[in-house]
Amino acid sequence: MTSVLERISVDRVVFSVEFMPPRDDADEQQLWRAIRELEGLDPAFLSVTYGAGGSRRDRTIRTTGRVARETTLVPMAHLTAVDHSVAELRNVIGWYAAVGVHNVLALRGDPPGDPMGEWVKHPQGLSYADELVRLVRELGDFCVGVAAFPYGHPRCADLDTDADMLVRKFRAGADFAVGQLCYDAADFLRLRDRVAARGSDAPILPGVMPLTTPKMLGKTLELSGAPVPPKVAERLEPLVDDPKSFRAAGIDVVTEMCEQLIAEGVNVLHFYTFNRSKATKEVLGRLGLVASRTP
Ligand code: FAD
Repeated sequence: MTSVLERISVDRVVFSVEFMPPRDDADEQQLWRAIRELEGLDPAFLSVTYGAGGSRRDRTIRTTGRVARETTLVPMAHLTAVDHSVAELRNVIGWYAAVGVHNVLALRGDPPGDPMGEWVKHPQGLSYADELVRLVRELGDFCVGVAAFPYGHPRCADLDTDADMLVRKFRAGADFAVGQLCYDAADFLRLRDRVAARGSDAPILPGVMPLTTPKMLGKTLELSGAPVPPKVAERLEPLVDDPKSFRAAGIDVVTEMCEQLIAEGVNVLHFYTFNRSKATKEVLGRLGLVASRTP
């Protein structure tokens, strides 16, 4: 039973990949093609997000279980407290253990329907992720990760309070954190400094999303909670009508950010794959982390 912490505590640069539970059978086939393509590149772990509703949630359990059973990869399942009583959370955590998943990303989650709406906890549920960290830890030999926000969680008053909350999650028993995506290495490094200044040296993995289409650029604010950095917008916006050049420049931007992170001692890069492998493979190839392939 290999933990994520073991897989990322190494003396070389490694990467991890994040997938979403499939929506339907066609999606599932696409997902498994991408998983198989990335498996050969030996990611440190593969994580699967936790959906907002029942069937997506079942698919998270099924997918991570299949990864544990049928691949050489180390799976990590996300779990949120949304609409769950503590008894239900115990049940899901029990299912994870039963299907061979011993790494959990413990999250509070967003209010269903409107991510910026008011958080209302389940009457028998939890209010914050640190409580879920404690619950997962209590229930067995799990390695536990949490979310981190280079630009601060959208609901947090300021970056210092946000860093205090992250450190609270580490003190509750989290082993590491995965960062929300960003496109400026300096923003991530400032988060790392804020956490280090509070006496924590738990690993924080930067979230990397290869920017391959103008649509993705448009979704950055929604996904990261922060606008695209001006220097990135200046490079990419003039190319929105030229898909090929946009893609090439988007891959450049992300590769350069990863190079800066590595130069600053970051040794794990967490890729948001959107269930595709090609762009992630390209960035890894450019970084010299796998044999470079022509797209
Ligand atoms: P928390 O850490 O509980 O923070 C929520 C808010 O409460 C913050 O403003 C924080 O500052 C504040 N806070 C935290 N603890 C306390 C405390 N003890 N007292 C007072 N205030 C506190 N969502 C999904 O639905 N499914 C997923 O699979 C998923 N995966 C994600 C993966 C990553 C890497 C990231 C970065 C986010 C992911 N999310 C996912 C989104 C996440 O659930 C939301 O961003 C959610 O709003 C915050 O979750 P959290 O675990 O950071 O919450």
